[in-house]
Amino acid sequence: MDVGKARMGTRPIISFRQVNKWFGNLHVLRDITLDIYEGEVVVIFGPSGGGKSTLIRTINRLEPIDSGELWVDGIPVHDPRINVNRLRQEIGMVFQQFNLFPHLTVLENIILGPVHVKKIPRAEAERLAMQLLERVGIPEKAHAYPAQLSGGQQQRVAIARGLAMRPKIMLFDEPTSALDPEMIKEVLDVMEDLAREGMTMVVVTHEMGFARHVADRMVFLEGGRIVEIGTPDEIFENPRHERTRVFLSQVL
Ligand code: ADP
Ligand code: MG
Repeated sequence: MDVGKARMGTRPIISFRQVNKWFGNLHVLRDITLDIYEGEVVVIFGPSGGGKSTLIRTINRLEPIDSGELWVDGIPVHDPRINVNRLRQEIGMVFQQFNLFPHLTVLENIILGPVHVKKIPRAEAERLAMQLLERVGIPEKAHAYPAQLSGGQQQRVAIARGLAMRPKIMLFDEPTSALDPEMIKEVLDVMEDLAREGMTMVVVTHEMGFARHVADRMVFLEGGRIVEIGTPDEIFENPRHERTRVFLSQVL
């Protein structure tokens, strides 16, 4: 994406160095080395069970790593002594299941972090939350409860909630996989806007149209290993590895 190249920084904001992780005997991340630059949009794709969720969850230490180094905005995430709350304030995350609190309104869901973690005055947090709801296109839902919203609307609230902490990085783990087809585009459109505004984004998705148009680079992960990294043009037009080719022929 040419827009992406123009606004991309030259400083890695996320650096994986020889990162390994096991779940018991299962070696789920194998020697992951990857730099992600400020303002970059990186799509992670590959077969189920390949380690995509685990990889993305190491970034905010929802999954601790077993060896190697992982640096996020200068924070050594591999170091067990770091302040995890400070790390997580820099990173918003959106999951496949929207994970909104059902007993709180949309507005209350969004201001929770800013008010309780960042100690921002409630009125100011609400002003910011309304701006974010405008941005994701549903200001009229501020006082609704999650159950009164469609899946697409709930996911847009989840994105607004992630942005409310003013993160430097946004992580998305299959954000549209639980949505009915007609709601996928409204969520991808919000993500694309965010990308164009220069947010650093790591996105696990099977939406290859989104990847093609929005990603700066794509990472093919299989069996816990990075098989191939390339621009969307390289990955779609001229994949270097047979496994990438085969996988794409199955999903496209
Ligand atoms: P993906 O997101 O690519 O489908 P995951 O990262 O979820 O892959 O999973 C990678 C592998 O690790 C899978 O074999 C999965 O069953 C296993 N796994 C994931 N989470 C755990 C866990 N908390 N405990 C044990 N095994 C896990
Ligand atoms: Mg997953």
